[in-house]
Amino acid sequence: MSENKRIFLSSPHMSDEGYEKEYINLAFDTNWIAPLGQNVDGFENELCAYTGAKYAAALSAGTAAIHLALKAAGIKPGDRVFCPTLTFSATVNPVVYENAIPVFIDCDEETWNMSPKALEKAFEKYPDTKFVAVAHLYGLAADMDEIMRICREHNAVIIEDAAESLGTTYKGKMTGTFGEYGIYSFNGNKIITTSGGGALVCNLADDEKAEERIKKARFWATQSRDPARHYQHSEIGYNYRMSNIVAGIGRGQLKVLNERVAKKRYIFDFYKKAFADIADIHMMPIDRDSVSNCWLTCITLTGDRVKPLDILLALEKENIEARPIWKPLHLQPVFEGCDYFGEEHTAQKIFDCGVCLPSDTKMTDEELERVASIVKFLWK
Ligand SMILES: *Cc1c(COP(=O)(O)O)cnc(C)c1O
Repeated sequence: MSENKRIFLSSPHMSDEGYEKEYINLAFDTNWIAPLGQNVDGFENELCAYTGAKYAAALSAGTAAIHLALKAAGIKPGDRVFCPTLTFSATVNPVVYENAIPVFIDCDEETWNMSPKALEKAFEKYPDTKFVAVAHLYGLAADMDEIMRICREHNAVIIEDAAESLGTTYKGKMTGTFGEYGIYSFNGNKIITTSGGGALVCNLADDEKAEERIKKARFWATQSRDPARHYQHSEIGYNYRMSNIVAGIGRGQLKVLNERVAKKRYIFDFYKKAFADIADIHMMPIDRDSVSNCWLTCITLTGDRVKPLDILLALEKENIEARPIWKPLHLQPVFEGCDYFGEEHTAQKIFDCGVCLPSDTKMTDEELERVASIVKFLWK
């Protein structure tokens, strides 16, 4: 193992100004350590202001947000949910928590996200499906115009997993605000982090209904306590709310989100220039009808000289973190036997030839150069 300082894929990056600590101190000074308070309300409002979402509920994780999105959308046991196959398992696990049935949809090469063509095929077989989960992987925007058109035709609700794409716009509008429900994650590796956390946003056209759904999500997230002096419950609840301390970190991080997006895009451009003379390396397809937050810079390889594993091992030897593309979920043992639509197996092809490169916003030019030259050396 090399003596060099470890380079991470994407690690927490607090503001130089110390904004996060100011908000945490605010919570300490007012003894609003828990459960809720000013930072939680502030974070929800500021997240709405940043994204343009109508209403938000700050939660303990992005996964919790997906779970409550499904509940708010009215999912019932046995309902089918069309889900992307190329994503992190957290997009789909909550479908199973609710005893609903995930059906996996392939991605397309142009966006790396849900293929409208494969989605249409799925609707041909299961026309009465009422829920579609869409993700924006690595900060790349899905083809929302087509996906929304198809979903409207079938009266299906969209749950938009923008865990990796906070700050990515599609045709000028923030991802996470297209679907009836959207979710963000503030896990440690995301573009901004609260140490752990998530948010559910609701964008239903009817303002009152949207507010009501978010209030309901907050109710479920705090153990479904009915308004009564004693503890009274008429529904099953969860302990999913974000704490006031954690929300303080989020408020500080939101202030530097644009800077983080700019740096992530800089990292993408740096690698792109560095690899320009290697015909076997292809950059992920950013900025198709969109401006990507470039959460992780991913590449795919052609030719026989270098395989993804060669890159992972070469970087590992130098104490540098990199990883494969998400393994498609329809190939995961836990989802064996689930339906899958996709004749071209694009997700599997991207998985087979793709690599996520270190995209940590604290990386210096020297560190970026070091990663790029280790990768390029494999072609020497
Ligand atoms: C990180 C992530 C999640 C889950 O978010 P948590 O806050 O870790 O629960 C969901 N979907 C995708 C695509 C993610 O990358």
